[in-house]
Amino acid sequence: DDPAPLLSVRGAVKNYGLVQALRGADLTVGRGEVHGLLGANGAGKSTLVKILAGLAKPDEGDFAIDGAPFRPGSIREAAAAGVRLAHQELAIVPALSVRQNLHLGRYLHPELAGAKERERAYTELFEEWGLDISLDAVMRELSPAHQATVALAKTLVGSGRLLILDEPTASLGPKEVSGLFSIIRRRVEAGAGVIFVSHRLGEVSRLCDAITVLRNGQRVHDGPMEGVDEHALADLIAHDAG
Ligand code: ATP
Repeated sequence: DDPAPLLSVRGAVKNYGLVQALRGADLTVGRGEVHGLLGANGAGKSTLVKILAGLAKPDEGDFAIDGAPFRPGSIREAAAAGVRLAHQELAIVPALSVRQNLHLGRYLHPELAGAKERERAYTELFEEWGLDISLDAVMRELSPAHQATVALAKTLVGSGRLLILDEPTASLGPKEVSGLFSIIRRRVEAGAGVIFVSHRLGEVSRLCDAITVLRNGQRVHDGPMEGVDEHALADLIAHDAG
């Protein structure tokens, strides 16, 4: 028998009042895989990843991590299971130092037990990323790109099994994007799975191993990235109005 995939979602349904955000969506992500989650605005991408991260509750659906049922009730529960979301809305606190912000995110990586171990892990991550960021700096004094990298670092540090990055490059420059992509590659080489949500098709084809396309809350395509060019991607994503 095939071993269970890292993540399996079958028939995810989520309604917000009369809005059907997910209408039976499926998603499978393997270990060691960067999986692009694509779709037009409103297709349901953010809703699906929020469910996986414990930020929203599905109405229906079967969710499993490594074959075991997975229904996180909070960000903390998802993080404890190794599922971590980086999302623009999960912001940093501008008035606090980088160090204080990082310690505020400690529940995202319970495996980094003490303050010292945590700070060492972050310092190593910033080095790996090629970033010169002092832990003593006040967040609001950093450039927007550096503020975004600190927010992303909270998800990337430690030993997450499934890292979910929702539009992670929106505020980054080319140098930070290259660093981020090499960090992502190293995480998947170590066996993690990554869900990469993006509208930037060039980045998707550069980074992803496989893709899932959602349309109107359902999966309309999944398969390897290989052999799919940016035009084909755009066609898969585009949906007829009306
Ligand atoms: P985008 O690329 O614009 O982020 P998306 O694919 O992530 O889009 P979702 O944000 O998941 O799409 O939205 C799916 C649908 O659910 C949309 O119609 C959206 O308006 C609706 N929706 C999402 N969150 C809520 C909410 N909290 N309350 C009401 N409706 C919502």
